[in-house]
Amino acid sequence: MIEVTQHDLRRLVKHLGKPAGELVKLYAPSDFEDTDHDDWVNLSYGKRKIGLRRKQDGSCMFLSKDRQCIAYEARPMSCRIFPIDIILDDDNNADDLELSDVVTEKFIRCKYHHGKAVSFRGMRRKAVQSRNETVSYWKKVSLWNRASRKGRKKEFLEFLGFRHS
Ligand code: SF4
Repeated sequence: MIEVTQHDLRRLVKHLGKPAGELVKLYAPSDFEDTDHDDWVNLSYGKRKIGLRRKQDGSCMFLSKDRQCIAYEARPMSCRIFPIDIILDDDNNADDLELSDVVTEKFIRCKYHHGKAVSFRGMRRKAVQSRNETVSYWKKVSLWNRASRKGRKKEFLEFLGFRHS
């Protein structure tokens, strides 16, 4: 499952001209093999994580028949930094490298590599952007959870600043 932040969602909504509710789903802990995360969104029906919708076969909704990404220009940060996560220190220096979680996602079958080769400096820049956007998303989730808002998907998307439909 490709998790998204409000920044990813904003780019996708703008690029595709579709309401946020058509692009994402709120996934339950049972959708994950590893539930040891701390960034769940508390909704009225339990804790969830926001991610791109999937097709019936489990593949990403943006995957075309010829395995291209139809939202490539606006793809989420986790797809942009694929397949290597650069672990940053507090000064945004590259501290370590890890294979991205997305690599182990068995339903990802798109050809990511039809773009140009990216320099290490470019990868680091994306890693910094990804971390900043993820931290900003977690802050929003934490605000939502702390205020004990127990809405549903529609209310959570509106809280993030999107139209549900
Ligand atoms: S790059 Fe692949 S996983 Fe990411 S949005 Fe596009 S089709 Fe989906």
